[in-house]
Amino acid sequence: MVKAHNNKNNVLHGNYKRKPRYAILVNDMLNDFIHGKLKCDRAAQIIPKIKLLLEKARQKDIPIFYCNDEHLPNDTYELRLWGPHAMKDTDGAKVIDELRPSANDYIVPKRRYSSFDGTSLDSSLEGTYNGKGVDTIVMTGVHTHICVKHTVYDAFVRGYNVIVAEDGVEAFTGDDHAAGLKYMKQNYGARIEKVSDILKSISY
Ligand SMILES: [Zn+2]
Repeated sequence: MVKAHNNKNNVLHGNYKRKPRYAILVNDMLNDFIHGKLKCDRAAQIIPKIKLLLEKARQKDIPIFYCNDEHLPNDTYELRLWGPHAMKDTDGAKVIDELRPSANDYIVPKRRYSSFDGTSLDSSLEGTYNGKGVDTIVMTGVHTHICVKHTVYDAFVRGYNVIVAEDGVEAFTGDDHAAGLKYMKQNYGARIEKVSDILKSISY
């Protein structure tokens, strides 16, 4: 059942009536996805961009959610397809050193593509901003057309506004990346924005 969120859609973009209540999601920026078993060379270019975004978010008290694959051996639906990756309690499942979480950041372990699926993410988002909750999610991480896309679907059906950082998400190929962005824009109403523009918005 989808819960009603009647407080998320009254943000006027462009001419803000009030400040959006942002959260930054960092999806699967883990050793196995960036340097290890499912290594993604293209992801190297998003690391410094995400870092800038996280530094600004921490300055502005914008909550940061690290959504991290943490598989168990019986997650066969995915492990058969991709091979074992980001297995719970292994180095491969740790966030890369370059983007190490701070003490105040939220860590959301997940076992499926969507960061909302079977996790505490939704209730954690709702608990921020003195119980008013997040209304606008900024997506970063990998992969544009897989976990990012599935997470944005779940954010969409829950009524969140979604901004996908065009140069803060990546995929195995340029085509996969572009197709993922296009799909999220067309079907989930996601705004696709450069990190430099998101930095300006969240600094407001
Ligand atoms: Zn996985």
